[in-house]
Amino acid sequence: MNPPDLLAQLNPTQAQAADHHEGPALVIAGAGSGKTRTLIYRIAHLIGHYGVAPGEILAVTFTNKAAAEMRERASHLVPGADKLWMSTFHSAGVRILRAYGEHIGLKRGFVIYDDDDQLDVLKDIMGSLPGIGPDTNPRVLRGILDRAKSNLQTPGDLDRAHEPYLSGIPKEAAAEAYRRYETRKKAQNAIDFGDLITETVRLFRDVPAVLNAVQNRARFIHVDEYQDTNKAQYELTRLLASRDRNLLVVGDPDQSIYKFRGADIQNILDFQKDYPDSKVYMLEHNYRSSARVLGIANRLIENNAERLDKTLKAVKEDGPPVVFHRATDHRAEGDFVSEWITRLHAREGLPLTDMAVLYRTNAQSRVIEESLRRVQIPTKIVGGVGFYDRREIRDILAYARLSINPSDDVALRRIIGRPRRGIGDTALTKLLDWAAAHRTSLLEACARADTDGILDRGAQKAVDFAALMHAMSEAADNYEPGPFLRYVIETSGYLDLLRQEGPEGQVRAENLDELVNAAEEWSQDNQGTIGDFLDDAALLSSVDDMRTKQENKGAPEDAVTLMTMHNAKGLEFPVVFIVGVEEGLLPSKGAIAEAGGIEEERRLFYVGITRAMDRLFLTAAENRMQYGKTNAAEDSRFLEEIEGGFDTVDPYGQVVEYRAKTWKTYRPTVPTTSAVKNTSPLTAGMAYRGGERVRHPKFGEGQVLAVAGTGDRQEVTVHFPTAGTKKLLVKFANLSPA
Ligand code: ATP
Ligand code: MG
Repeated sequence: MNPPDLLAQLNPTQAQAADHHEGPALVIAGAGSGKTRTLIYRIAHLIGHYGVAPGEILAVTFTNKAAAEMRERASHLVPGADKLWMSTFHSAGVRILRAYGEHIGLKRGFVIYDDDDQLDVLKDIMGSLPGIGPDTNPRVLRGILDRAKSNLQTPGDLDRAHEPYLSGIPKEAAAEAYRRYETRKKAQNAIDFGDLITETVRLFRDVPAVLNAVQNRARFIHVDEYQDTNKAQYELTRLLASRDRNLLVVGDPDQSIYKFRGADIQNILDFQKDYPDSKVYMLEHNYRSSARVLGIANRLIENNAERLDKTLKAVKEDGPPVVFHRATDHRAEGDFVSEWITRLHAREGLPLTDMAVLYRTNAQSRVIEESLRRVQIPTKIVGGVGFYDRREIRDILAYARLSINPSDDVALRRIIGRPRRGIGDTALTKLLDWAAAHRTSLLEACARADTDGILDRGAQKAVDFAALMHAMSEAADNYEPGPFLRYVIETSGYLDLLRQEGPEGQVRAENLDELVNAAEEWSQDNQGTIGDFLDDAALLSSVDDMRTKQENKGAPEDAVTLMTMHNAKGLEFPVVFIVGVEEGLLPSKGAIAEAGGIEEERRLFYVGITRAMDRLFLTAAENRMQYGKTNAAEDSRFLEEIEGGFDTVDPYGQVVEYRAKTWKTYRPTVPTTSAVKNTSPLTAGMAYRGGERVRHPKFGEGQVLAVAGTGDRQEVTVHFPTAGTKKLLVKFANLSPA
């Protein structure tokens, strides 16, 4: 496509912004005004018109999914889009630290703690900390630490905090916990999510040569949703852009909804101060929503005192009325939603993927899920307990982590009792003490449990466990990620454990199959080791709430999306339901009590409303169950603010009549779980005799020297000129004839 055609697909202001060549620029505009679209076209235009190499362009987005979508959309506009660097701040951090972390003392193969790992470490530390009571929730401490990191604060900064207490914990105790936590992490060769940004900032500050090298890869920098950057991300961006100053950020201050995670709206408001020579582009037309939906959104957000005045005019017509429905209780609310979804789907033929149900808190999803399940409407939950957060997945990934990093004590403690290996709490305490005293890892302590007299009874069990992990480490080297995970699942005894657990174990075993599939799929798209796969999986589990295809594999294609309003940022759907528009939920209880809380909740509601393209439903319940009790609920104050913008109708009459007709005719697609594929052509029944020439995916060509065992247990000794002699289980090694 010729470059002029590209800009013709934008309105004049969007086109000007997309034509911005060098220097800093700010695109500031309301929801649905085409900010993200403009950003993508700008990238395409840089390549197609200004001749910038795709390999010099970086775009930072809010989720990995958004990054993938952006790349996909850019690839339709210009060639070479596969070389674009598009990622979240966190993924960018992983990549930079993997490449250059050694310059600031990170050892190769460091692991990334997930939320649970962090909690485990904090629980440990808290036990011995003065000033922190035994019933303090470690999550509170984690919150303090995360917050400190997003503000680039050190433990010393917490000591010097103005307020004596941080979330109810004496500041000195919090600072000390922070210090010990950092030491512990370092000893385990681990970093956490916050570090992905803060350590990158430190690296850039301390090692100019590294900064320069990364700047060569990011001469043109874009940040979407800039209003939600925190201080650490702001600093990372500033450093990266400091040399070439080609920074284009887009955002909407009215959609800043991550203050609780340290996001600072001031970053976008101060952009012109930071870059006095920046160009500013304001977009004033909303292309997404019907005029009615936009009218409500505009009326709502006008109630915020602290805001930039912007105009946002609808391009679309009025569209169908916005509906508000007050249900008798939370279940009736769920039924209202599922009845409408059924109706729109079956009668009006709308695909389920066109519809989303948004809520304030994750817990609200359960009732909606149950309602939809009753009418057999498939759902896809974004956020919440996604695939990578499931217990069995995390357990197997913990085995894998320990295989590649023997110092990962957190992983070891997670899995040493799954399945039970006869190593109880007392034994574990002894091992822990010994490891601490000798400044070594728990796994090392297990290996020496016998020889060094750490344990008397049960020593052999610890030694056996160490031997198992040793074999697993070798397997991590020898096998591709998919087969390696299959090896872990089988040799760890985990699969046997699940087999004893009946139907629930069966479901979990299927999930493990799916994990192997995910790794194999990943290997098809990426060249990398199991370590790289684990990095990606770690990012999927916690940072990126909007998961990629791996999670939704096995789920039906056509499904209603359920998610929190936070997760819905940047997305759009023809039909949107926002449930629980009640005091105490939206605005939330916590926010009502907090300074600035109401304004933040109003922005959140604004984000929710502006996801809707054509139809919007708002619902509330008169009675709601919370903490096991049903209480009377009150309409949200926000409804008063937008009153007149929606129709208070009770469409139950129609729906009930309709129910009888369609519930019978609706046929759900049944999700299928794919089984583990046997990918190796040689494993299906072929036996080795010795002497064969084979090819290994990593070690190349080699010759079989010896064979032992048969069937699943057949093991070959192969000599590889490049890698030496290796013993490999045929089942996992993916050997092919050379
Ligand atoms: P948000 O604030 O929610 O992130 P946004 O400003 O990034 O929204 P986009 O998602 O880029 O908005 O655009 C909203 C919708 O409007 C998209 O479907 C997009 O394709 C469409 N759109 C934007 N600009 C135009 C245009 N000039 N012509 C046609 N459609 C457009
Ligand atoms: Mg956007």
